[in-house]
Amino acid sequence: MSIRPVIISTWPFGLAANEAAAAALASGGNCLDAVEKGINVAEDDPEVTSVGFGGLPNAQGIVEVDAAVMYGPTHGAGSVAGVRGLKNPISLARKVMQHSRHVMLVGEGAREFALRHGFPFTEMLTEPARAKWIQWLLKTYPLPPGKTHDTIGMVALDASGDLAVGCSTSGYAWKEPGRVGDSPLIGSGLYVDNEVGGAAATGLGESILKYCLSFLVVEGMRQGLSPQTACEAALRRMKSREAEYPDAWAGLVALNKAGEYGAACCGHSDFPYALHRGGKNEVLTYSPRPE
Ligand code: ASP
Repeated sequence: MSIRPVIISTWPFGLAANEAAAAALASGGNCLDAVEKGINVAEDDPEVTSVGFGGLPNAQGIVEVDAAVMYGPTHGAGSVAGVRGLKNPISLARKVMQHSRHVMLVGEGAREFALRHGFPFTEMLTEPARAKWIQWLLKTYPLPPGKTHDTIGMVALDASGDLAVGCSTSGYAWKEPGRVGDSPLIGSGLYVDNEVGGAAATGLGESILKYCLSFLVVEGMRQGLSPQTACEAALRRMKSREAEYPDAWAGLVALNKAGEYGAACCGHSDFPYALHRGGKNEVLTYSPRPE
């Protein structure tokens, strides 16, 4: 039995996203459709408080979302950042890739582009998210900062051997309005090279983006590293240089052209991710080796 398609996503909420991605492939879609439809699931789920609808807001109580997509066969990329009122930024990123002259649109311009292309706008702040924001304002918010952000990052290898990657996030809870992390930045939050493989990141964007971690993983694979070793090597590079956030945590997922996968994290006790491979969809956990 072929191992293809192979789909890897960050975090346990990647399981449902993988399922939808696999369904998109099964109904004739390609890896780009898989990434979009898969990520839409996390964006639509109000229980996922770090992506799309129900995401935790910025310091002013406004949900601002970031997303990007890359399609291996054309090396096309699309990205949006700091968009308000939009549930499915991954779909907007795809639209930017396929229907604009640009790669990245931000804020009000991205919103106008979305309106022109018929994207619906909605209130993104759910009641539970508003309650957490108010608790944060009153300084009684009980969760540690590490629990207030995440990203769905997904890499998909389809039956034809083509690769796509995407990510979507509402970023750091209580962020400064206008703050953008790694997720919508090509090379940092995501990267694909159709001859080699793809990678996506989650974690502290302020650190990840300075090391172009996803690009680094793909370049590692190009030089012959396995996806696992390439993820670990990229994180070691970040850790060896990072003075501003020495305890920064980051998680990476990667796939190569042969359908081999890898995942790794640093600054975190473990990193659960979702893998769909050889017809099986499951949550696996990477635990860093003690140093
Ligand atoms: N990387 C995301 C950001 O910095 C957040 C996360 O994945 O935890 O916006």
